[in-house]
Amino acid sequence: MSAEGRYAACCDVGGTKALLGLVDVDGQVLARERYLLGEQRDPQDMVEELAHRFRALATGAGLDWHKVLGVGCSAAVMADIERGIIFSAPNMLGSHRDVPFRQLLSDATGRPALIEMDAYAAALGEAWKGVGAGVDYFVYVVVGTGVGAGILMEGRVYRGWRGTAGEFGHATIDPNGPQCNCGRYGCLEALASGPAIALRAEGALVQGRQTVMSAMAGDAAITAEVVFQAARQGDEVALDVVRQTVEYLGIGLVNLIHILNPQVIGLGGGIILGGSDLLLDPLRREVVRRCGSWVDVRGTRILATSLGEDAALLGVARRVWEEFV
Ligand SMILES: [Zn+2]
Repeated sequence: MSAEGRYAACCDVGGTKALLGLVDVDGQVLARERYLLGEQRDPQDMVEELAHRFRALATGAGLDWHKVLGVGCSAAVMADIERGIIFSAPNMLGSHRDVPFRQLLSDATGRPALIEMDAYAAALGEAWKGVGAGVDYFVYVVVGTGVGAGILMEGRVYRGWRGTAGEFGHATIDPNGPQCNCGRYGCLEALASGPAIALRAEGALVQGRQTVMSAMAGDAAITAEVVFQAARQGDEVALDVVRQTVEYLGIGLVNLIHILNPQVIGLGGGIILGGSDLLLDPLRREVVRRCGSWVDVRGTRILATSLGEDAALLGVARRVWEEFV
């Protein structure tokens, strides 16, 4: 099938919102839409809504739906990617388990479909058009509501024996740390994700430390965004929270470097997008300091995403183009 006039219909489904995009063979996003997910997380309803919105998006952009090559969906899932079955995806599908999502999506859209884990989708996108382009040993770390990694070694996706490689958010960073969503203690996700950053700031407030964050948040709960805003104003409590976050992420990245020796580590996700001015340079220094002289860490570049929120869309688009042409 030729690529002439064709495009991939892609989505990146998060915990509260979904990003849709129609992507051509060169990685150009021809049309995009963002929408909020409802409370209802029935898989059948979700694929029907996606199918409906894809068609409307194509029509709005003057594109013929029959020219869609295939459909790709990125999400934070535990899944059998090859068979397209989502074992579990609490943020996206609530308590639904063992969902044949690829088949449902294909039936609803009338096109071949595929699914991808969000960190891997973003890694593939960045390796195609972003900070991982032309890099043979590339790891992409997503720091947002959760933490995960997509690993590309020798230019190929590395998923491990049962496909669970990249569950970097559940690497133990501090055995005496706070409890993680997975039930264990001191995982990177429990220390450096958005909710973890917010929780540490709340903890400082409870201890009675003076900070502008209480006034900034008002009646609402403190978020990582509030922490970053306060840190930019020189608020000592917020700066402490940022420093701790840099330390935890630094420990995590040093572990990755020791195990995988990547050429480039790309960083993305909401926390990096919202706080790269505060996090990136200190993180690079932290990694150099913690690696010591055992490995030549200065050769490994640590770069923020150049694709931003489009990274995962482009990653699934790349897979659609590779698999369905
Ligand atoms: Zn965990």
